[in-house]
Amino acid sequence: MYVGTLDSGRMAPESSSQNHVTGSPAPISGPTTACDILIIGGGPAGATAAISLAEKGYRPVVLEKARHPRFHIGESLLPANLPLLQRLGVAEKVRAIGMEKWGAEFISHWDGRRQEFEFSQAWDKSLPLAYQVRRSEFDEILIRQATAKGALVIEGCRVRDVEFLEGSGRVRVHAEHDDGRLQSWEAAQIIDASGRDTFLGNRLGAKRRSKKHSSAAMYAHFTGARRDCGKREGNISVYWFDHGWFWFIPLADGTTSVGAVVWPHYMKSRKSSLREFFFETLALCPPLAERLSAATLSTEIEATGNYSYACDRSYGKNYLLIGDAYTFIDPVFSSGVMLAMQGGMTAADTIDACRRNPGGAPAELRRFDKLMRHGPKEFSWFIHRVTNPTMRELFLGPRNIWRMEEALLSLLAGDIFGRTPIWKSLRLFKAVYYAISAANLGRTLRAVRNRAANIRSEPERLTSA
Ligand SMILES: Cc1cc2nc3c(=O)[nH]c(=O)nc-3n(C[C@H](O)[C@H](O)[C@H](O)COP(=O)(O)OP(=O)(O)OC[C@H]3O[C@@H](n4cnc5c(N)ncnc54)[C@H](O)[C@@H]3O)c2cc1C
Repeated sequence: MYVGTLDSGRMAPESSSQNHVTGSPAPISGPTTACDILIIGGGPAGATAAISLAEKGYRPVVLEKARHPRFHIGESLLPANLPLLQRLGVAEKVRAIGMEKWGAEFISHWDGRRQEFEFSQAWDKSLPLAYQVRRSEFDEILIRQATAKGALVIEGCRVRDVEFLEGSGRVRVHAEHDDGRLQSWEAAQIIDASGRDTFLGNRLGAKRRSKKHSSAAMYAHFTGARRDCGKREGNISVYWFDHGWFWFIPLADGTTSVGAVVWPHYMKSRKSSLREFFFETLALCPPLAERLSAATLSTEIEATGNYSYACDRSYGKNYLLIGDAYTFIDPVFSSGVMLAMQGGMTAADTIDACRRNPGGAPAELRRFDKLMRHGPKEFSWFIHRVTNPTMRELFLGPRNIWRMEEALLSLLAGDIFGRTPIWKSLRLFKAVYYAISAANLGRTLRAVRNRAANIRSEPERLTSA
């Protein structure tokens, strides 16, 4: 299956039988170049896969439609990102652009209660810190490292089409440079890391919208927002309010990223301009509005439907799906970049293991699939309940009985792929959640019905992030 070569040279398009997954007529193709592994997208997932593969001796080609540095939302990292950054050799560079994030606070504006969590109190005390980053800077550090390690990164080059060649078992990828030139590649293996564009998931008809969760977001950057002092300055604040939740993410240069993640139903109720609606929404959360009272908007307001989805498969004969190209979950726990990078590393390990031992490939691929599902599944249980009053109570009044608080903090730190033994305590946490929910049945049923009504509406078409 994974018997690609590491050669790279010009070759004529071949005429073998092929499976063109778009369903459109013949793809528009340019001159074809052979390569070994081709990665679609140079965000955190694609860049991590590229660095990891290059370190193992492969020479992947990365096609990125944008040019770094480019804006991207998703600025809050988790402590579990740090060992990954260390392994990729970029920890120092990220430290230099990052705002230290030692914890997170959750605030209920209804009764003014707030709860601060410090990552140093998690089960594994060796992961006390994360960073808030400007994604333009962070993503550029990663992609430049991919080039430095030997990957061929081609920016301003959008993948337009893909064909699975049945005869040779290779994949032909058709792309367009931003000057209009067409170019094609023939690869032994492709990795889709195209983010929420979900290039391959769409082409394969593999993308499934979540029936359990749906949300939309509006966000912008501010200067002059009131920050906490000292070590708490860089903490993320999450404010619950009637229509969802807000983030307040302080960046290193004094800018603060503020966003509202709301029910699609609420987003659809918009009558005013996006800017007016964003400020009307901020006004619904007085403690956050107060922190922004002297602040100035420094960017346009962006909006995006960020409903959750997953592809029905994470791999095929000669492709892997990673990061948001495979699945997207609500960003309330800032898990996206960590899961994307973890996926990039796992993809590189999987390809390498399959090539070293082709006989073990089916088991390696099943393991890859399991790891790709693990993170989204663990976070989703909490995401689907985070706006529920029972969950709010547990977050606002945590108890460390049976080490439940430490286990929860480890999850919030993203420490879910290693050996930290949090699972028994997390199961107990869930049992407590169900017990409190049952004891307050009326409230629980109201919350369930309310949530079901809120996620039913389709998000309106919005400017993409
Ligand atoms: C509102 C919101 C808030 C978020 N907040 C956070 C947060 O605080 N913390 C966090 O960790 N995560 C957050 N996320 C999630 C996070 O942004 C993503 O999970 C993360 O960026 C995924 O990385 P990726 O590499 O898979 O995809 P991306 O970062 O999206 O990278 C994909 C790359 O592929 C390129 N591409 C796409 N299509 C093509 C094509 N056809 N050809 C060539 N290139 C292509 C794109 O230009 C892009 O550079 C948030 C998401 C949203 C929507």
